[in-house]
Order: sequence, then C-alpha cells, then structure tokens
Amino acid sequence: MPVSDSTATGNAWWVRDGLATLDEPGVLLKDALDAVFTRWGAEAGARQQSYPALLRAEDLRTLDYFRNFPHLGSPVTRIRPERLAALAAHPPGATALPAVDLADATHLLPSAACYGCILHLTGTSADTPVLITTVAQCFRNEDHYDGLRRLWGFTMREIVCVGSAEAVRAHLGRHQERIAAFGAALGLTLDRQPATDPFFEKDGSRTVMQLLAPVKEEYLYTDGTAVASTNNHRNFFGERRAIRHAGRPAFTGCVAFGLERWVHALGDRFEGDLAAALRAVRRAGEGS
Ligand code: AMP
Ligand code: ZN
Repeated sequence: MPVSDSTATGNAWWVRDGLATLDEPGVLLKDALDAVFTRWGAEAGARQQSYPALLRAEDLRTLDYFRNFPHLGSPVTRIRPERLAALAAHPPGATALPAVDLADATHLLPSAACYGCILHLTGTSADTPVLITTVAQCFRNEDHYDGLRRLWGFTMREIVCVGSAEAVRAHLGRHQERIAAFGAALGLTLDRQPATDPFFEKDGSRTVMQLLAPVKEEYLYTDGTAVASTNNHRNFFGERRAIRHAGRPAFTGCVAFGLERWVHALGDRFEGDLAAALRAVRRAGEGS
C-alpha cells in the first residue's frame, strides 16, 4: 500500500504533498468528466488545442503574473553543469537540491490552462469569436494542501472565448447554465458565488477592479470546494498580447473545471462508490 497522508473510501486515491495518485475508478471518472466538458466546448464551437507543458517566465511577465500571482508559481530549472559532479557525490540521505546548484529559472509550470492559449493567440486578429478548449496539468503553491480538494498539481479543463465583450458574456452565461443543470442532474448541490482571484497584492489595481465589478464566479460544492469557475478577463489579455477582435483589443473569458475537485465532490456524494458516480456522470452528460 502506498504511503499516504489522505485516502478516500476504498483507497480510490492517495495524496501526498499536494500530489495525487488515482486508482482506475478515479481515472475513469476524471476522464468521463473531462469528456463531458470537452463536448460542451465542441458544442459551443471550440477547437481542441494543447500547449507546451512549461510557460516562459518572460511571457508571464507581460501578463503581470509576477505582480499578481508570484506566490502560486512553480519555477522549473536545471542543475548547473559545474555542479553535477558535486551533486552526484551527495550522500544518499540528502533530500532537497540546494539552490546554489541550480540555474536561474527561465520557465514555470502553468497555474492555469488558459495561459498557454492566450500566449499562443498573441498577435492574431479575427472578426468572429474564437473558441478553444484545452486541458493542462496545473500547479499552484497553496498555503496548505487538502486531499483532492486542494492540490499542488491538478488537472484543469478550460473553454476559452476570444471576441467581443458581448460574446464573452454570452459564453460565460451559457456555461453557467450548463454547470448548474449538470450539477442538478448529478444530485450535487452547487452554490454559485462571486469570487476574486488570490492576488498577491491585495490592494493592487486588478484586485480593486475585481472587487468593484465582479468578473469571476465560482461553483461551490456543499463543503465549500470550488469545482468550476467562470472568469471574465475583459480586454486585459487582448491589450497585453495584441490579440484583436474586429480591429480592437479582444475581450477574453474562460470557463474552468478542476477535474480532481469534481472527483472529490462526486466521491462524497456517492459515498465512495466511484463506479456509481461514473454511471451518473455518463447519464447526466448525455442529458446535459
Ligand atoms: P481558478 O482559476 O482559481 O478559478 O481555478 C480554476 C479551477 O481549478 C477551480 O474552479 C478549481 O476547480 C480548480 N482549482 C484551483 N486551484 C486548485 C487546487 N489547488 N487544487 C485543485 N483544484 C484547483
Ligand atoms: Zn482560465
């Protein structure tokens, strides 16, 4: 039995240091959920894309990432060539790699799936809305981890809309309805709440803007876990990355699903019977 600090009923998953291992029933459930959300994307006219597994620090800087979310970041680096021999000689008991042995970090693991999409669209222009769906392994340095509810590494499916302010609003509204109907069909009580992103600077201009005019809504399971969110970025990314719609900086917005959080909520709702949860997702997915 693997070492674990948190297990679900029937050992369907194990979590350690915010990193999850799922057994087959959890994998099947997560894939079935992803298939439902991907189909919603396809029905909205989204094409599927996948992006590089790492983001360039230089690119994230243009999105104010280090002003707004530096605390979430997971930088990725290499061992300095001149330190390889010393590292190889470390005693077997040594654990962390000392920072002095590491090169400066040029890349980070994504903390949201839509960054790859926004960066890919840099410098493009369109006259009709562009819809894209993507899934990514995302990483967030959280102040604590908690089972599948709060992970360091998790899977995020997103459906992104790029277009006019109105097209983005309609996109988010349509998916708010779909999430509510899907939750109801699964017997999951999901409470829709306005939210703000976890900005590093609590009085920064984007925090204040989000507080003045809520642009993010979350869907909370009864235990407070946000399983999905809708985010209106307005024309921030359009301006920063020269993404244009009808000759002006495009508006963008995304619908995001944390797949492990859905597995957690359904595991709870079906009292650990993930096979029953899977059947319910397949049934509800067909009807939603
Ligand atoms: P956000 O951009 O914060 O709205 O995140 C999008 C979705 O990812 C959320 O609605 C959650 O379902 C999921 N999520 C965010 N942070 C975590 C985390 N630390 N562990 C697991 N899922 C997460
Ligand atoms: Zn997003």
